[in-house]
Amino acid sequence: MKLSQLLTQGRVTVSCELFPPKTGAALAKVEDVLRDTAALAPDFISVTYGAGGSTSKRTLELAARLQDVYRVPALAHLTCVSSTRDQVADMVERLQAAGIENILALRGDIPQDTSFPSPEHYHYANELISHIRSLPGGTDLCIGAACYPEGHVECPHFYTDLDNLKRKVDAGADFLTTQMFFDNDVLYRFLFRALDKGITVPIVAGIMPVITVQQIRRSCELSGTVMPPRLQGIADRFGDDPAAMRQAGIAYATEQILDLIAHGVEHIHIYTMNKPEVAAKIMDNLSCILRPHG
Ligand code: FAD
Repeated sequence: MKLSQLLTQGRVTVSCELFPPKTGAALAKVEDVLRDTAALAPDFISVTYGAGGSTSKRTLELAARLQDVYRVPALAHLTCVSSTRDQVADMVERLQAAGIENILALRGDIPQDTSFPSPEHYHYANELISHIRSLPGGTDLCIGAACYPEGHVECPHFYTDLDNLKRKVDAGADFLTTQMFFDNDVLYRFLFRALDKGITVPIVAGIMPVITVQQIRRSCELSGTVMPPRLQGIADRFGDDPAAMRQAGIAYATEQILDLIAHGVEHIHIYTMNKPEVAAKIMDNLSCILRPHG
């Protein structure tokens, strides 16, 4: 099912995310992750893309398995920063052949070890979206893009980033998914500003359950996401106790989602990070809210 249809049905949706593991034990367990994430019956599951790395082929494979074996709509991420236009065209063709009709089109993080940009590189995600739309069958695909409620870390001004976001929508993005945020007021302000800018496509709110403090501090550092004092206090108090931190992180994410839905946000994406048991707890805490009619 195309997510552009799913996200305009006027009901709450909840989705999950998984990533193709690189090697070793995590790789051996990937089928368990697929099965257990699908068992939560999310509205869709997204599969991340390792830019230029060995896992990028696995995105297609896992997304196809989610649809063919577990019957859950898949959203395949696709980054362009390390690819040529021919490589992207080839990947899009293979996704289409595998029955994937939803693509999250991303630039990806600029690699440190290459001379970016060269003439054959894409520079920004809006170029990728335009390119996908121009490919055979490209207008039939549902294309999503990323958005940043606090502004993208590379962009010095929030409103410039918003202008750039509008370019992605104008290039053909059907919906947007936000980067993680920990203060819902940040999202509410962003939604008003996006609307003011004429961005009317559905926006899916990305929620990251904070399970370990080290991981989240690093992610915040890289992405520029602000940790509000309440979450900072929780991390300071429970960060050294893994079981308590996990419980606190689940409670924090649960409250965030409850508040979002109470304020009319319809689409929630849980950054599950291959931990379906964490998403399961959150979804269980909110079972009557996420699925009001059972
Ligand atoms: P863009 O939209 O191209 O924006 C990048 C920067 O360039 C911004 O600062 C923007 O303001 C600026 N900009 C954009 N267009 C223009 C323009 N035309 N002219 C001038 N400036 C411009 N990374 C992965 O490697 N794999 C994944 O699977 C993945 N999934 C993600 C999912 C979500 C929901 C999010 C929020 C991020 C994800 N990322 C992933 C990370 C993402 O690749 C990085 O955040 C990356 O730095 C930016 O990608 P983008 O598509 O938002 O880039």
